[in-house]
Amino acid sequence: MERSQLIKGLEQILEPGRIISDPVDLMYYSFDSSFLARLNKFMPDVVVTPRSTEEVSAVMRFAYENSIPVTPRGAGTGETCGSVPVQGGIVMDLSTWDTIEEIDAANMQVIVRPGVIHGRLNEKLAAMGMFFPPDPGSTRMCTIGGMVANNASGLRAVKYGCTEQYVLGLEVVLPNGEVIVTGGLHSRAVKSVSGMNITKLFVGSEGILGVITRVRLRIWPKPKGRGIVMAVYKSLDDAPASVLEVYQSGILPSGIEVLDQSAIKAVNLYKPEINLPDAEAILLFEVDGNPDSVEWEGNKICEVARQRAISVEWATDAKRMASLWEGRSVVATAAARVRPDGTRVFAGEDISVPLSKVAEVLRAIRALGDKHGVRVVNYGHIGDGNVHTAPVIDPDIPQEVEMANALVDDIHRYAVTVGGTTTGEHGVGAVRAKYAELEHGAAVGVMRMIKQAFDPKGIMNPGKLVPKEEA
Ligand SMILES: Cc1cc2nc3c(=O)[nH]c(=O)nc-3n(C[C@H](O)[C@H](O)[C@H](O)COP(=O)(O)OP(=O)(O)OC[C@H]3O[C@@H](n4cnc5c(N)ncnc54)[C@H](O)[C@@H]3O)c2cc1C
Repeated sequence: MERSQLIKGLEQILEPGRIISDPVDLMYYSFDSSFLARLNKFMPDVVVTPRSTEEVSAVMRFAYENSIPVTPRGAGTGETCGSVPVQGGIVMDLSTWDTIEEIDAANMQVIVRPGVIHGRLNEKLAAMGMFFPPDPGSTRMCTIGGMVANNASGLRAVKYGCTEQYVLGLEVVLPNGEVIVTGGLHSRAVKSVSGMNITKLFVGSEGILGVITRVRLRIWPKPKGRGIVMAVYKSLDDAPASVLEVYQSGILPSGIEVLDQSAIKAVNLYKPEINLPDAEAILLFEVDGNPDSVEWEGNKICEVARQRAISVEWATDAKRMASLWEGRSVVATAAARVRPDGTRVFAGEDISVPLSKVAEVLRAIRALGDKHGVRVVNYGHIGDGNVHTAPVIDPDIPQEVEMANALVDDIHRYAVTVGGTTTGEHGVGAVRAKYAELEHGAAVGVMRMIKQAFDPKGIMNPGKLVPKEEA
């Protein structure tokens, strides 16, 4: 369909002001945070900003009848080109539809529209002593719809898990415009085993099966106490060993973060006043709960960590905690400082590996970086083996881009070889779909069957998550 016809068709079904077609405005929708988006120019033909289920359904019906690709988009903070229209067509921007419909505190749940920002929801809940536990680093930007579609999590996933554990039900507009409700049409139950669990099928489906238009989320009581242990290790191997010993002492921290030597160096270059000790690894253990148990757990972690660490510090005072945590909070930005003209690119940034292999993996990534001539900074959520690797290059030099792409390919393949995964939290999108067969084998055939059943015309976010069968 001609672009002008497409816009005319949409004008007949949407209110004025819900369609964006100016080429300058469309540029914004050709990006997310991924390196792939930076290297390409995936422009949409048009963007729509629907604010009701009826509008979403009408757009989907129109797109279905005319076989036009539709890419749902939240805040566009994804790292995988997931919300970027790699085959053009319509981008459906849901970020303006940000209504918190109901905080049903009596039933420990909330009902929201897809564009609600995660941090905003948690601010509202905090006033009632509640929270929605998954905690991506993008909390101040990302939407609940994007979190559900990507099954997002964060540094507290080690204790609280991923978004999927909190989604009680969804309203979804299918590719042909039909509207369904999962998890029970009128349900307010927090526990149910009724029906096939298609809610979970949509969580993490990255917008390839339908558009999420309403989310019913479970909420939890917000812990009153929090404390941080910082432990410094001369030997990298002692860091994962310490983590295991903490688990074996009966403690499940709410976060366990690692900075390896490369990350320590980057932080000290970026902000010398943080002055992290020169070591092979630093671990940050966060514990939360009631203040008495926090105190007990913090002291116990210190006792366990001291068996291997060269220094250990424990804090519950807000100012001191912020200071211990500062190195971790700036590391993503600091990474670029390992070379004066460097830019940190978001590629190969999210592998997850078995805890028992973390030290080996960090060393191997360093060796792969040397092999390809690319500086890499490593940090991440060691408690669940989720390693964030940050290649630092000059992206304006084509040869460096090639070197980074080769490195990232090696990192992804290596992660699968050691019993890990190409992505622990950021998802697959367009950047990791090519590893699907390597990682999932024959199961990819079943994924294709599910995609075909929901979206026989292949219009829903094409080119993402499940690769097309090779001819
Ligand atoms: C600084 C930074 C830190 C980050 N930290 C983390 C982290 O700690 N943990 C983590 O998991 N991720 C993290 N991310 C990645 C990203 O923020 C998350 O994946 C987030 O959930 C994406 O939300 P979004 O609203 O930006 O979605 P988008 O990027 O807009 O979209 C993501 C995917 O969801 C689909 N989608 C969006 N809305 C809908 C909808 N309503 N219906 C159907 N499909 C939809 C899109 O098509 C796309 O495939 C980080 C990103 C940045 C930039």
